[in-house]
Amino acid sequence: MSAHDNLSQPHQTAFYSGLQKTISDLRDAGLYKVERVLASRQGAEVVASDGRHLINMCANNYLGLSGNESMVQASIKATEEFGYGLSSVRFICGTQTVHKQLEEAIAQFLGTEDTILYAAAFDANGGVFEPLFDADDAIISDALNHASIIDGIRLCKAARYRYAHNDMADLEKQLQDATAAGKRHKVIVTDGVFSMDGTIAQLDKICDLADQYGALVMIDECHASGFMGATGRGTHEHHNVMGRIDIITGTLGKALGGAMGGFVSARREVIEILRQKSRPYLFSNTLAPSIAGASLAVLKQLSSSTELRDRLHANTAHFRREIEQLGFTIKPGTHPVVPVMLFEATVAQQFAARLYELGVLVSGFFFPVVPMGQARVRVQLSAAHTTEQINTVLAAFAQAGRELNIIK
Ligand SMILES: *Cc1c(COP(=O)(O)O)cnc(C)c1O
Repeated sequence: MSAHDNLSQPHQTAFYSGLQKTISDLRDAGLYKVERVLASRQGAEVVASDGRHLINMCANNYLGLSGNESMVQASIKATEEFGYGLSSVRFICGTQTVHKQLEEAIAQFLGTEDTILYAAAFDANGGVFEPLFDADDAIISDALNHASIIDGIRLCKAARYRYAHNDMADLEKQLQDATAAGKRHKVIVTDGVFSMDGTIAQLDKICDLADQYGALVMIDECHASGFMGATGRGTHEHHNVMGRIDIITGTLGKALGGAMGGFVSARREVIEILRQKSRPYLFSNTLAPSIAGASLAVLKQLSSSTELRDRLHANTAHFRREIEQLGFTIKPGTHPVVPVMLFEATVAQQFAARLYELGVLVSGFFFPVVPMGQARVRVQLSAAHTTEQINTVLAAFAQAGRELNIIK
C-alpha cells in the first residue's frame, strides 16, 4: 500500500501495482539487486555506510586510479581551467582543447588514427553500428558480448549472425553463411576480455579468419585498455595484432581512471562518419572537462611507465596461485578477473555474506548472470592492493571456505 493509492485512477493503479508485482517477483526469485552504499572514496579499502572497513575485491579499479589523490587533483585542475561543464553537445559549442587532446592521446595509445568520445562505453557501443552498417551488411557477434553491443546491433539494420562464445569453428561457419548470403561488408564483433570469466578473446585467430573471409574486426576493450599487453594498450597488444583491428570501443570508467566516459577509436573516416551521424554523440552532452583532463593525465602516466600494469599482473599471479593452493576452484587464466567457483547460488550468497563480515567486499554471481550451476564470487585484483591486503583476503577466503565446507 503506497501513500498514493487512494489518489490513483484505475489505470494508474493497474500500472503501479504491476510494477509492485514485478519487484516482489524479483525478490521471491532471489534476483533482486541490492546496492551497497559506500561512505568513502573508491579504493583498495573502502568504508561502507554501516561503518565497516572492507578490502574491495570487486571494483573495475584495475590500476587503482579511482579515488586516487592524483586523479582528484588532475580533475580539479581541469575543472579550474575548463569549468564544470559545457551545457552543450560537441558540435554546437561543447568541444574544448582538452577533448581534442584526449581523443588524440587515446588514438596514439591504442595505435589507431582517431578517436571520438562518448558519455559512456554503453553509448559508444550503442552508437557505433547504425552509422557504419546497413541492411546489405553482416554483423557477426560473440554470443556473450556485452549488453551494450547487443543493444547497438539491435539499433542497426545489418543482418545479425551470432557465434557460440569464443568458438572459432562456429565463427568460421557464420562467416561462410554471411559470405554465401552475399553480404557487402562483414564485421566480427567481440569483447576483448569477457568480464564474467576473464576470458581473453582469441584475436590472433579472429584476425586470421577475418582476413580469410574479408571481414572487419571490432573489439570492446572495457576490461583491457590500460593493462592488457606488455605496455597496457589492450588485448590487441596482448595478442600481437595491433594494426589489424578496425574498430576499438572502450571506457574511461574502469582501468583508465574510473570516472565515466567512453570512446570509439578507428581509422579517420570511421570517426568522421560517427561525428556526423552517431546519435548518442550528436544528441547527448559533452564529457565533463574534469574527466577529459584527468583521463589525459592517466594516459600520459601509462605511456611513460608500466609500473601500475606490472603491479596489477603481479598481484593477479599471486592471488591466482595462492587461492588454488588453498583448494578453491578458479577459472584458469591470467586476467585480474578471477572467478572463484562455488557452483550453487546459495553457497555463493552465503560465502559473499560471510566475507563481508570478515572485511572483504566481493560480489556473488549466479543464474541468470552466469549459467545455472556456475555460481561464483568474482574477484578483481587492482594495482592498488598491497600484498598484505591480498594475504588478508586470502586468509578470509580460507576461513569462510572452511566454515562453509567449500575447502578442507
Ligand atoms: C563496462 C562495460 C561497458 C560499459 O561501459 P560504461 O563506460 O560504463 O558504459 C561496455 N562494454 C563492456 C565489455 C563493459 O565491460
